[in-house]
Amino acid sequence: MEKQVALHDKKFSLYLEEEIILNRVKDLAFSLRQDYNQKELVLLCILNGAFMFASDLAKDFDGPVEVSFVKVSSYVGTESTGKVDELIGLTANLKNKHVVIVEDIVDTGLTIDKVIFLLNQKHPESIEICTLLYKPEAFLGKHRPKYVGFDIPNKFVVGYGLDYNELGRNLKEIYQLIPE
Ligand code: 5GP
Repeated sequence: MEKQVALHDKKFSLYLEEEIILNRVKDLAFSLRQDYNQKELVLLCILNGAFMFASDLAKDFDGPVEVSFVKVSSYVGTESTGKVDELIGLTANLKNKHVVIVEDIVDTGLTIDKVIFLLNQKHPESIEICTLLYKPEAFLGKHRPKYVGFDIPNKFVVGYGLDYNELGRNLKEIYQLIPE
């Protein structure tokens, strides 16, 4: 039978094996290395979900590169403008540098749109998106990812950094929700 995991109240079946993921990550690292040859590149990992992908991508990147981490936070501001988003922990100086945002998954693309809006205020030379997973059917965003590991259907996935209510991030493979 197909490999399955149970997390909280849900069951998930194996969707992408470790070897398939790691081979694809190597390809992406190679493409980035070629495209950013002789350029000051910053890999900007969006926490928490992209931690495992960013780690393998950085290890496979055969050249000098900065690796930095941010968290996206939404909070209700004190003014009546409502929801405000900010990037927490951005310590890297991005001015005149080439930034590649490293994401676990681009679904609607709205998170990435906000991240790019906020990053532009730091005046980088360029910004591109590298995501392990992309759900083209769900995408509504303005910025399409240039580097994509796998196009996947519009179904909930966990593993390799991605969680279901904080469980599943440690799985080496990616699993898809089994509908009840
Ligand atoms: P967006 O819709 O803004 O592109 O996606 C925002 C965030 O939703 C992603 O960064 C990810 O944290 C979460 N997300 C979207 N689809 C999935 C999924 O299939 N599985 C998990 N675990 N998280 C998802």
